[in-house]
Amino acid sequence: FDLRNEDLKDLQELGQGNGGSVKKVEHIPSKMIMAKKIVLIDAKPSVRKQILRELHIMHDCHSPYIISFFGAFLSDPNICICMEFMDKGSLDGIYKRIGAIDIDVVGKVALAVLEGLTYLYDVHRIIHRGMDHVPLCAFTLTLDSSDIKPSNILFNSQGQIKICDFGVSGELINSIADTFVGTSTYMSPERIQGAQYTVKSDVWSLGISLIELALGRFPFSESDPDDSDLSDLEGTLSPNSIAIRPKEKDKNVKKDRRKSKGVSLQGGGMMMSILELLQHIVNEPAPRLTPEGRFPKEAEDFVDSCLFKDPDARKTPKDLLKHPWVEQARVSTFDLEAWASTF
Ligand code: ADP
Ligand code: MG
Repeated sequence: FDLRNEDLKDLQELGQGNGGSVKKVEHIPSKMIMAKKIVLIDAKPSVRKQILRELHIMHDCHSPYIISFFGAFLSDPNICICMEFMDKGSLDGIYKRIGAIDIDVVGKVALAVLEGLTYLYDVHRIIHRGMDHVPLCAFTLTLDSSDIKPSNILFNSQGQIKICDFGVSGELINSIADTFVGTSTYMSPERIQGAQYTVKSDVWSLGISLIELALGRFPFSESDPDDSDLSDLEGTLSPNSIAIRPKEKDKNVKKDRRKSKGVSLQGGGMMMSILELLQHIVNEPAPRLTPEGRFPKEAEDFVDSCLFKDPDARKTPKDLLKHPWVEQARVSTFDLEAWASTF
């Protein structure tokens, strides 16, 4: 049906992301509750229309592991995307509230994300397209708002796990006005180095996300690559592959270890921390589910295979669906609905 801004009543702010915000709304004519994502875009009218056309494909995405799409419309200077509302929110919010997530749940998350990715890829040939048409400037841009990451994996009280914000619209990705510069990234080493995005990059992002959920913290946050300084970076990071637009506002500066050391995050400090992180991802061994023995062997092995640094060695989502840990998760009787009622 036809969605119009006038028919949507704001109920609650659900969160702020990169270049946009998400609100819980009621579609008054149908009494339906939805999530409305408002994205500020920097694009000509023709490109805005192109974005709407590209988003249209989401009407054809029907999977229990993918957020349902209700429609999108322009509301100058924004684009509004209306989707299924998930009442338990995103997995980052959940672990920040209740702490590290039970490994049985993490297994179910792995299964849901792999199913969702396989569906998008096999049925619609959708993969994220973050690195197309990247402007060539000294340091180009890191844009991971459409990555697989805990804030893009949503949960509801029926115990369903679904992914959202996948990159269906290349033009939308290119037009998000407020480019993200954060202190965490789920980007794979090959993407940091400027390689084309493939479905294998999503597998890396899944691996990082699963560790984050199981440990209750971003896996790189404890590491301290103190040997890095800007002069090292030129050789390791392809200058065309990483674009960073320093921003005046610091609303996206969340937790940063530099804060505790009393170093300013503005300008250079902020740049440094993200560059250090990118350099660390490229140069250091991938993170693992540790300490050894805390988690089932199959879970450790699954995460390791998501985080092969060489994308050729990494499996596709479809192949990983056959991994023993994922097969276990599929037949597991763990009751996600009951778990959802505990918080
Ligand atoms: P990010 O994913 O980078 O956090 P977003 O703008 O995509 O930024 O989303 C902001 C927050 O809104 C998310 O972290 C999530 O908690 C919440 N959110 C997004 N979509 C939905 C939805 N469909 N239902 C419920 N909450 C949502
Ligand atoms: Mg999101």
